[in-house]
Amino acid sequence: MAHYTIRPLEVARITAPVGLLGMGGDMQTFIVAPVPIFYIEGEGTKIVMDSGVEAPDDQGLVHGFPCAGGGEEGIRTALQSVGTTPEEIDYLVLSHLHFDHCTYSSLFKNARIILQKKEWNTAFNPVPPARVFFESSLFRSLEAMDLVLVEGEYEVTDGVSTLFLPGHTQGLQGLAVSTAKGTAVLTGDQCYSYYNLDPTRTEVTDLAGTTVAIAPRPDLPFLPPAIFVNLVEWYDSMWKVVATASSRDLIIPGHDPSMVGKVFG
Ligand SMILES: [Zn+2]
Repeated sequence: MAHYTIRPLEVARITAPVGLLGMGGDMQTFIVAPVPIFYIEGEGTKIVMDSGVEAPDDQGLVHGFPCAGGGEEGIRTALQSVGTTPEEIDYLVLSHLHFDHCTYSSLFKNARIILQKKEWNTAFNPVPPARVFFESSLFRSLEAMDLVLVEGEYEVTDGVSTLFLPGHTQGLQGLAVSTAKGTAVLTGDQCYSYYNLDPTRTEVTDLAGTTVAIAPRPDLPFLPPAIFVNLVEWYDSMWKVVATASSRDLIIPGHDPSMVGKVFG
């Protein structure tokens, strides 16, 4: 089977309460976290997961969150750092349609775009508390592109398959990627950080280098992020992630500060 390498690339930095990382956490203390895209390359094929976030407005905010970077430039600079451009990407896999994951899909003009049908069908009318995270103007134009709506597990190309992981949203998908070290899983926002996978953790160090305390939950096998639509599905998805990855070292969360600059596989 083909082998790939995976590089989380930072396209923006977002400041958010540390309590978003884990349900029931501290909403008064803030951390700086990456908004990433993920670059997956191997066998002459180039794949990107997610398409970034808008540049901040005059107040320095995106959807109410303090943000730096972003915009088209954020995507172009990130991909330039690995020697490519959005136009050279073969497949764009969208994990889900939250505003910080799908904004610049139109730059990927030559890519086939892979999204779960369930995410597409629910993003235009999400459950009411989730409305704030979806903005249909950011993704409606996908229909004019080479969009493929898939259901459940779908082989994108040899060694790369989608993994249906509902819970954070109704139709979130991750990616299972064959690497030289085994099968890696990109979880998207199923996991914001390693804390969701390992709730015994007691601190997180953000992109500004600040270390913040988080409450360990050794009583739980996994701890959901504070944003979810279905907790039962979230736990089912978590067991699917660990069953698919060859080891927990090969599970790559959606916004963990420590993953920036690393190469997996
Ligand atoms: Zn999300």
